[in-house]
Amino acid sequence: MIENPFLPVSRADVERAASRIAGGVVRTPLVPSPTLSERAGQAVHLKLETRQPIGAFKLRGAINAILSLEDAARRRGLVTASTGNHGRAVAYAARELGVSATICMSSLVPANKVEAIRSLGADIRIVGVSQDDAQDEVERLVQTLRLTPIPPFDDVNVVAGQGTIGLELVEDLPDLATVLVPLSGGGLAGGIAVAVKALKPQARIIGISMERGAAMHAAIAAGKPVAVREEETLADSLGGGIGLSNRVTFALCRDLLDGIVLLTEDEIAAGIRHAAREEDEVVEGAGAVGIAAILADKVQLLGPTAVIVSGGNIDPEIHRNLIGRSTR
Ligand SMILES: *Cc1c(COP(=O)(O)O)cnc(C)c1O
Repeated sequence: MIENPFLPVSRADVERAASRIAGGVVRTPLVPSPTLSERAGQAVHLKLETRQPIGAFKLRGAINAILSLEDAARRRGLVTASTGNHGRAVAYAARELGVSATICMSSLVPANKVEAIRSLGADIRIVGVSQDDAQDEVERLVQTLRLTPIPPFDDVNVVAGQGTIGLELVEDLPDLATVLVPLSGGGLAGGIAVAVKALKPQARIIGISMERGAAMHAAIAAGKPVAVREEETLADSLGGGIGLSNRVTFALCRDLLDGIVLLTEDEIAAGIRHAAREEDEVVEGAGAVGIAAILADKVQLLGPTAVIVSGGNIDPEIHRNLIGRSTR
């Protein structure tokens, strides 16, 4: 395939990221799911990013971004806003690399995620009631204290780091035809699409979001980033906007995704339950949307399929309540 030279992230960016982060992340397993394969009539495999040390893929982008910084910028300390897993990733990576990190987040972020980050040694600042409020605080700290921002998704090095998943998928499943990817800011989906489409131009990449506040879906429909009301959802890691001045992920998702599927809260709950009961995996809402889309019959799978199980950091009580319930 001739790569589109206008895309902000290239296959070479992803390949460089893969060698940079190799020592710091887990090369996660791609495991077959007999029950989903039977249900879908295609070979379905689960890419278990739940096996990363922080329980989610975000370590890939964070480590790649931090290792790409100049020494001086790294030493001034890192700062980011996060709905949880990105903050956890930056905190973990900063500690591994001996750098300080400040994590800004809104008061909507679940308590278990806040504590997880605090316990990784990062400074926490809780500000406002939305991802945008937390982001404003990041910008203030960049201006006043000259901290170095590590963006959650809209950054070439972050996207390239997440894209390393795509290289592993094609290595492990050479006849890969469809990838189901949880979609929020689009770093994960955009990076995987760059890598997979460079190697398998015919493969289809489908983004999956919740109906409640699907920011990238709204942006693509409008032809530009738009403000989306944030709502509570079981897929809390998919909450938040894509940024009105988005530079990287909007173009990638608009140009490379083959479709976006939206799910109800009940459908997401069914995905979490299936993961626990049939796959023996504790998966958070955002991580279960690919499974949920198959169960809800909302995606057509053409050929061997990889489902990105992006994270497992769910409040244990919420998880218990969902699993205990006997409805589908
Ligand atoms: C951040 C996150 C996503 C979405 O990633 P984007 O790059 O923002 O699209 C999906 N799943 C989990 C578990 C996450 O933490």
